[in-house]
Amino acid sequence: MKTTAITHITDLVTNDPSLDNGTPLGVIPDAAVVIGGDRVLWTGESSKAPATDNAFDAGGRTMIPGFVDSHSHLVFAGDRTQEFNARMSGRPYSAGGIRTTVAATRAAGDEELSANVARYLAEALRQGTTTMETKSGYGLTVEDEARALRIAGRHTDEVTYLGAHIVAPEYADDPAGYVGLVTGPMLDACAPHARWIDVFCERGAFDGDQARAVLTAGAAKGLRPRVHANQLGHGPGVQLAVELGAASADHCTHLTDADIDALGQSDTVATLLPGAEFSTRAAWPDARRVLAAGATVALSTDCNPGSSFTSSMPFCIALAVRDMGMTPDEALWSATAGGAAALRRTDIGRIAPGARADLVLLGAPSHVHLAYRPGVPLVEAVWQHGVRVR
Ligand SMILES: [Zn+2]
Repeated sequence: MKTTAITHITDLVTNDPSLDNGTPLGVIPDAAVVIGGDRVLWTGESSKAPATDNAFDAGGRTMIPGFVDSHSHLVFAGDRTQEFNARMSGRPYSAGGIRTTVAATRAAGDEELSANVARYLAEALRQGTTTMETKSGYGLTVEDEARALRIAGRHTDEVTYLGAHIVAPEYADDPAGYVGLVTGPMLDACAPHARWIDVFCERGAFDGDQARAVLTAGAAKGLRPRVHANQLGHGPGVQLAVELGAASADHCTHLTDADIDALGQSDTVATLLPGAEFSTRAAWPDARRVLAAGATVALSTDCNPGSSFTSSMPFCIALAVRDMGMTPDEALWSATAGGAAALRRTDIGRIAPGARADLVLLGAPSHVHLAYRPGVPLVEAVWQHGVRVR
C-alpha cells in the first residue's frame, strides 16, 4: 500500500472528538495528514509526519473533510426553469410542481437518467462533496421507482426509496390506494435497491397516519426511516420521525416547542436545507433554537429541480451562517460530521485515523472563508476514497 503525506496544512479541520482541543471541529494548526489505500492513517503536526512513499505540499491552505450531503433528489429528467422564474415573479411554491418532473422522468430513458445523476454528482464533487445521498420519487409507479433506485445505486451507496413523494397522478382520487401501492408491491420491488425509506409528510402530500404506514412498512422490510418533515407548515412529521427512531428529520422549517424538545432529546438529526428556503423565498429554519435544544444538526442541499436546484454545500454553509444564525464552525461541522450522523456513518465526515480518506483542500487560510467569500470556488483539490479526483 502506497502512503502519501499531505503536509503544511495551515488549519486541518478533523471533526475528531478525541482531540478535545476546545472546538468540535478539532482543528490542528500547521498539520499533516497521511493516507494509504482509501483510509486516513495519521494526523498531527506537520513537522512530526512519518515517512511516506509520496508527498503533497498543501502550501499553507486549509483542509476539511469532504462534505456529506445527506439529502438530494438526483434521479430526474428535465428542469423547472419556468416554474422558478414564475415563482421569483410572485407565485408561491406548492408540492404540485413535482408532477412536472414526474412526467419528464417517466419519459426519459435509463441512460439519460443515469447520465444526469453522474453529472450532478460530478458537479457536487467539484464543490467538495464526497458522499451524496439520493432518492427516488419522480417515478411513482412500481417500475419507475425501482428503476430510479437501480440507477441511483450505480452512483452512490446512500439510496433512499421515496415512492411517497406525492400521490401519483393516477391515484389523485384514491390516496389510500396509492399508500397501499407504496407499502405493498412498490416496496417489494424497491426494498432490494435502497438503504433508506423516506416520506414527504406535508399538507398536499402525505398526512401523519399515511406517513406512519409508509415508514413502518419500510422498516419491516429492513429500510431505515428518514422523513421530509415540517417544511411548508407545522405538522406531525418531526414527532413521527423521533417516535420511529428515524435517522433524520429533514427541513424542520416550522417547529413547535414540542418538536424542538423531541429533537433535542432524541438522536434523530435535524437536517436543515437552506437552499429550499432560498429558492422558494420562504422563512428560514430557526437553527439557533434547534442547536440550543441540544439536537444534532446537519446541513444539506436538497438538490432537486423544483425547490432547490443547487449542488453546492459551500453555498448552503454561507446561507446557514448569513441567514440562519449558525457560526461558521457550526455550519462546517453540520455539513460534514452532521451529514454523516444523518446517514448513521462514522467512517466519513471526519479526518482521523481509520476514517475514509475523503479530503478537501480549500484555497483559503481558514474554513471561515466558506461563508466569508460566498460564491467563490475555493475548493482546489479533492481526495475521494484516498484517490485525488481533482
Ligand atoms: Zn427533499
